[in-house]
Amino acid sequence: MSEIIGVEIHISGIVQGVGFRPFVYSLATRLALPGWVRNTSAGVDIRLDGSEPVVNEFLKALQTETPPLAQIDALDIRYCPPTGFSTFEIIHSQPIEGSFIPISPDMSICSDCLKELFDPHDRRYLYPFINCTNCGPRFTIIEDIPYDRAKTTMKGFPMCPDCTSEYQNPLDRRFHAQPVACPTCGPQVWLEDCSGTILAEGKEALSTTQEFLTKGKILAIKGLGGFHLACDAQNPAAVKELRQRKLRVDKPFALMMPNLEVINEHCHLNATEGSLLDSRQRPIVLLWRRAGSNIALEVAPRQNTLGVILPYTPLHYLLFSHQLHNNIPPFQALVMTSGNLKEEPIASDNDDARQRLGPLCDAFLMHNRPIHIRCDDSVMRIFGNPVDEKPVKNGQKKIDEYAFPIRRSRGYSPFPVQLPWLAPPILATGAELKNTFCITRDNYAFLSHHIGDLENFETLRSFEDGVRHFENLFRLKLQAIAFDLHPDYLATHYALVRCAREQLPMYVVQHHHAHIAACMAENGLPGETKVIGVAFDGTGYGLDGAIWGGEIFLAEYMDFQRPYHLAYVPLPGGDKAVREPWRMALSWLEYAGISWSEELHPVKFVLDETRDGTIRLEALRNQIRSRLNSPLTSSVGRLFDAVASLLGIRQQVNYEAQAAIELEACADTTEKDHYPFALTPSAHENGPLQFDPSPIMEAICQDLRDGIRVEKISARFHNSLAVMITMVGEKLRDATGIKDIALSGGVWQNLTLLKITLEMLDKAGFTIYIHHQIPTNDGGLALGQAAVASRRMVIGKGG
Ligand code: ZN
Ligand code: ZN
Ligand code: FE
Repeated sequence: MSEIIGVEIHISGIVQGVGFRPFVYSLATRLALPGWVRNTSAGVDIRLDGSEPVVNEFLKALQTETPPLAQIDALDIRYCPPTGFSTFEIIHSQPIEGSFIPISPDMSICSDCLKELFDPHDRRYLYPFINCTNCGPRFTIIEDIPYDRAKTTMKGFPMCPDCTSEYQNPLDRRFHAQPVACPTCGPQVWLEDCSGTILAEGKEALSTTQEFLTKGKILAIKGLGGFHLACDAQNPAAVKELRQRKLRVDKPFALMMPNLEVINEHCHLNATEGSLLDSRQRPIVLLWRRAGSNIALEVAPRQNTLGVILPYTPLHYLLFSHQLHNNIPPFQALVMTSGNLKEEPIASDNDDARQRLGPLCDAFLMHNRPIHIRCDDSVMRIFGNPVDEKPVKNGQKKIDEYAFPIRRSRGYSPFPVQLPWLAPPILATGAELKNTFCITRDNYAFLSHHIGDLENFETLRSFEDGVRHFENLFRLKLQAIAFDLHPDYLATHYALVRCAREQLPMYVVQHHHAHIAACMAENGLPGETKVIGVAFDGTGYGLDGAIWGGEIFLAEYMDFQRPYHLAYVPLPGGDKAVREPWRMALSWLEYAGISWSEELHPVKFVLDETRDGTIRLEALRNQIRSRLNSPLTSSVGRLFDAVASLLGIRQQVNYEAQAAIELEACADTTEKDHYPFALTPSAHENGPLQFDPSPIMEAICQDLRDGIRVEKISARFHNSLAVMITMVGEKLRDATGIKDIALSGGVWQNLTLLKITLEMLDKAGFTIYIHHQIPTNDGGLALGQAAVASRRMVIGKGG
């Protein structure tokens, strides 16, 4: 018999509010190890007595059988003399001054709870707020730490005796599940019309909601992180009506479908996409639409993808259930779009929803569990999985490898990204559009939920509230603020005001440097790393005041050089040129010295579709030549716009990047040719080289005259960019010996371009880094700002 030893274990990571202590309790009981477990404000502590082999078995199981929502970041084990415990107990929490623990994101309903939801013998049968330690709301209901019920929005719902006994029983799967609730003691649903009259309550509210949806009505439905606007996605009239009310012309709507089988009927679905859809995070996943699908075309006009999500709360499952009144709802898919008008923040408070969504919906499916912090659905794609040929079996690991986030929010935030070094507490305020902010502490970077476009007061307030909430939750005293170079960003204003008021050091980070640094940081590249950084983007303020967005850098966290960029052209009319791609086409034609002949689509558009076309063309030419209200830009996003216009695909856009998205959607990927281009020195001595696409413009015009299909031309254009990147990459590698290349910026959401570029770079022997945890668009920018600032701070280079 081996000797009895004592062991002290400290665990940090996501280990509270996720069923970790019951897990430890049942594990210790199973192995007959006496001792105790407790929460501390830094994680979880365990003490045990036992023989070495059994203790080792315990330690192994601790790491291999971890509950689904838990994540162990560090495990500190110390051996000591045995204490002489006789039983195993869960003991009282021990606060540690100045420490903190990460908070779990909201998680979709687990299979155990789902079973109870539809079990007529269960006391929570058809109860829309069923949850347990493995699932349910977390981030959106937490008001303060430590995480317990009194500090969540569940504090207004005292537990009934049944719930209390589950909550107190260490062997129950609801032991210390803070949001635990039942029909007797928990939150309730009701249906009300737009004048505030209650139409139905409880199950009847849900079945009436189904009837309304079946009849083509638009419902505002309160969910986990905010309201959705919902309607039957197979009813074109309903979808059209929703578009009109929401003032949303073309931007696609997300869809909720009840299960993977239904999704598979409407979309091409591979195994990895299936695992991602079905994961606990339950993001919206962009999928290729099947040709035969009868989802209304109005859901995603002129797109070949659909954004689809599975139900993720018990309430969502009930919307698709036939158990409410014994007949199957005739809808297979619901539009589930954010409950807001245009780009305002999603409504999350009942009164706010009544006011803002009243004009947009026919009725509200309400509930009385308050949402403390609003959180939109996340949007993801699967990229690079060669699955169509061979299905992937082992879900989760493959998801991490192939995930490509578009919007990282519910289910992911505030789960941290691990930094490659220890960072001081820094706030990075992010970008203007698709804003998220980032707060660092130790080796964690907490990237916020999606805030939105900081263009209105409501969003700015949501940003400020969010920052305050994060600082409080993670108990930080900021030591610096990092922000974008753009003088007009509201997030930059906020940073400047706070830095002045609190006398904090400022770190200004150029937009595309932040993109590349974000990509480096999420890939765990150490502090000294140098990469070739390809930042292809829509808009970002450059060091010279021009609008950058076609940048090839030699970059490290501290700083960057800019050896290559896309040639500068005027952006005639500034923001107007972003909304009207024909302006960019004409600007590029002018740059390339190609005359604006009448058969060219952008010219034809101005002559045919606008009043006084000839005069407008002349005015635009003058504007371009005089550079009046026409800042210079090297944006690749705008080059895509120009080509889309030239091909007659789109002259005006209704949402960001629409022209580029439609240009990509039409590309014939079997086409392998590319166009010639030039690399020319810029006007400045020793200045960067310019990538000059004039020869591409000429070749496209020639192809159009020769009657080549736009699908082929689009593909040739995509191929040309990939060839250019590879060629420039090779030149830089020859000159510097750097083989690592990082791709970041909004343009990389174009998976067609990404795929070709990766193939070429791979063949050329580069080590390539792209995004898998955070968005490649401005939604990931704050991480890069934080990485740059913390590196500069650690090294001691001033702000
Ligand atoms: Zn559960
Ligand atoms: Zn109860
Ligand atoms: Fe950007």
